[in-house]
Amino acid sequence: MTPLKARITDLIAATGPVPVSEYMVTCLFDPQAGYYTTREPFGAEGDFVTAPEISQMFGELVAVWLYQAWQALGRPVPVTLAEIGPGRGTLMKDMQRTLSKLDPGFMANARFAMVETSPRLTEIQKAALSGSNADIAWHETVSTLPDAPLLIVGNELFDALPIRQFVNTQAGWKERMVGLDGGELGFFAGAASLDAALLPPDSASAPQGAIVEFSPARTALMQLIAERLARHRGAGLFVDYGYLQPGIGDTFQALRRHRHEDVLENPGEADLTAHVDFSALAAVARSAGLAAHLATQGRFLLDMGLLERAGQLGADADGPERDKISAAVERLAGPQAMGDLFKVLAVLPHGIEAAPFPLAD
Ligand code: SAH
Repeated sequence: MTPLKARITDLIAATGPVPVSEYMVTCLFDPQAGYYTTREPFGAEGDFVTAPEISQMFGELVAVWLYQAWQALGRPVPVTLAEIGPGRGTLMKDMQRTLSKLDPGFMANARFAMVETSPRLTEIQKAALSGSNADIAWHETVSTLPDAPLLIVGNELFDALPIRQFVNTQAGWKERMVGLDGGELGFFAGAASLDAALLPPDSASAPQGAIVEFSPARTALMQLIAERLARHRGAGLFVDYGYLQPGIGDTFQALRRHRHEDVLENPGEADLTAHVDFSALAAVARSAGLAAHLATQGRFLLDMGLLERAGQLGADADGPERDKISAAVERLAGPQAMGDLFKVLAVLPHGIEAAPFPLAD
């Protein structure tokens, strides 16, 4: 049993079952034993590989999008280019290299910001960017970012924020809780119920045991970002795995060493995530007065010129290196890989266009 599992079990024995959201927060962010507090999740040696770790092309194309958005906004200076949830710092490193080539003047004038809650990952990011001579600062929340136009990107950020689950029972939709069953962690239907107006359309025909997911934590974070973009102007790009239409379904999952496992098995040692409801995030941006555009990651990257960039890199490469580049294209944009599962949300003020949004059909 992991030390965190022992602690959660004792806590539940003493005070009763906890909602899925509380279980998820404890497993991921507990100050002593949480997954993001203690572990090195990324890369071939870790538990999962993210798009910036697959290929430099991801960060290059994201940088080009943010730069185009800055131009469309009228090239405001001062401007802050921020990344939220930067992991190992790879995306920011690739973006800075690209922007230096694209426009040294932008690099000299822009302020860079890293928004990160994990002190351990903050240290890793500082080491990764130690060679950069850009003006770069770390923040624990977006609330302390400079009051200036903002270009912000987040990759695989929202999936790490906790969800609440509700399960369909004979007594209606009830909050799903983690409790004890003969000393072992197990799921139970709790007392809290759900306002029927919040249920997705397909819930009416849902069988007993069906699950719906909500994430007040994701909504609250998106709201903070959107309000900032509305107040100071700017653009946001958020990439994650998830769905475009709300619906019923249990997407709560644990990943350890590239394998799926039971979410209750190894608290603190497995990455816990759930798919992101992009329609909910887009709705938050729209209610803050911004335009929100959605696309699949594959469509976004191909429209941004992934194949052309791969061709350029391949022209200077030897055979094995060229194979690696084609494999990366397939992984990032292929419909069987990340291309369809991952979605992109672009947030801009109304009337500002940054290609490829709005997408042509
Ligand atoms: N973007 C990186 C890492 C994704 S993992 C990549 O693509 O490789 C999620 C990251 O978000 C981690 O760095 C984690 O510590 C951070 N994080 C989680 N919750 C956060 C929050 N509320 N604000 C800022 N960062 C957060």
